[in-house]
Amino acid sequence: MDVRAQVATVFHLDKCIGCHTCSIACKNLWTSREGAEYMWLNNVETKPGTGYPTQWEDQTKYQGGWEVKGKSLKLRLGRRLGVLSNLFFNPNLPIMDDYYEPWTYTYEHLFNAPPSSEQPTARPISKVTGKFMDIEAGPNWDDDLGGSPVYARNDPNLADLSDAERAALFRLEQLVFFYIPRICNHCLNPGCLAACPSAAIYKRAEDGIVLVNQDKCRGWRFCVSGCPYKKVYYNWMAGKSEKCILCYPRMETGQAPACFHSCVGRIRYLGVLLYDAERIEEVAKSPETEMVAAQRSLILDPKDPTVIAAARMNGINDEWIGAAKKSPVYRFVKEWALALPLHAEFRTLPTLFYVPPLLPIAASSKRGKYDLTDGEFFSSLEDSRIPIRYMARLFSCGNEEIIKTAIKKLWAVRTYMRAASVGDISDQRATSAMSELGCTPEEAREIARLTSLPRWSDRFVIPPYQREDVIQQLTSPIGHKAQVGFGSNVPVRRGP
Ligand code: SF4
Ligand code: SF4
Repeated sequence: MDVRAQVATVFHLDKCIGCHTCSIACKNLWTSREGAEYMWLNNVETKPGTGYPTQWEDQTKYQGGWEVKGKSLKLRLGRRLGVLSNLFFNPNLPIMDDYYEPWTYTYEHLFNAPPSSEQPTARPISKVTGKFMDIEAGPNWDDDLGGSPVYARNDPNLADLSDAERAALFRLEQLVFFYIPRICNHCLNPGCLAACPSAAIYKRAEDGIVLVNQDKCRGWRFCVSGCPYKKVYYNWMAGKSEKCILCYPRMETGQAPACFHSCVGRIRYLGVLLYDAERIEEVAKSPETEMVAAQRSLILDPKDPTVIAAARMNGINDEWIGAAKKSPVYRFVKEWALALPLHAEFRTLPTLFYVPPLLPIAASSKRGKYDLTDGEFFSSLEDSRIPIRYMARLFSCGNEEIIKTAIKKLWAVRTYMRAASVGDISDQRATSAMSELGCTPEEAREIARLTSLPRWSDRFVIPPYQREDVIQQLTSPIGHKAQVGFGSNVPVRRGP
């Protein structure tokens, strides 16, 4: 067992109100610079929808992430030698039209326009060419299903749905939708890292944050192709790649990342996970429908004495082990099995997990109303307005049982809490739904508390960093074991 520590995250999608405050907090802090205008290290997408860059989930188009070929795990992009021989030819990159052309407005004209009978206007002007432009796309162009007859129909996740399911989904006047906020997943097996020909991307030894060394980056952009989530961006002014750094300077001083701190819906949780790095390759090669369970099995119990001993052997100190024991991420992902990785079939082993949204499913009860008391919910899962197959494609690699179990448990907890607080559901019905899923009343109350009434310190369990100790370990002759994803072609790299 090779125990490593990872700062991991959970987003609870039922609580996201799509306000984009997170995106703005990040933009103001990190990407309000020339060359970075189009970058949204945090963005929020409406689903169904095509996202940003458009259709990023379609790997037949972008060739991101990993695939199993024979018995081996390979980058979809091709072998490293192939990457090197194609340094000047990379057809799998998103182009500006896939993101959008960043723009501003001629605001000064509102103040400086000469007197006229017409009201002055501020025209859009390209931040790339400096010329007037017509706006044709933006990072949240299909927000709240705006233009969905055109855009949402191109969502790659609709591929498995029948014509009838599609027709039902696009009864526009009754449509439901939900939001998916996205940041870099700080994967355990990062495609970006493995694809970089300059060895500029590394995973920090102490917390697993994936970073681009700006001194080493040569701007080849294979990281952009290698990342299936399209969460590395090329700065066209600096000629370097940039990505989310999980606000590590904030975390090192005990503060939550800016998007977490500012989140209006309080949907975000952050904490340490301990995992077995020895099993990364084996887990990343799992059959698609078993990926979620396999990734869960990689996460170790921080209270297990064997795990604690192995963690100490690897230089993980007791404060980090203590933080792992209190981690809300461990509870949501492993203990309660409620939080699931997004598109685990990309095989990068993402460490951002999502609690799937309940409302778009519940809202489709047969009688057309949202009613907790009628007992219809479990029988109507098959008829939900957002088809279970669509949700399974997003969060459980097509395995419908996994997503159904998570949704049933969320519903059972809600029913139980309603019975306890409002009293219009019988206790017997509330508890029988839970016992079917092996969920105890204590667990239900804990899930409800961490979902609806968590304190700051419950949501963000940030371990004390003591960065100076880490630097000492990194530079000592024995050295802290550096963390990298799988890939025998990936040399072990340490911090800058
Ligand atoms: S491959 Fe994973 S770690 Fe790398 S940029 Fe994409 S999401 Fe982040
Ligand atoms: S700030 Fe929070 S609630 Fe608002 S869009 Fe971002 S993740 Fe959702």
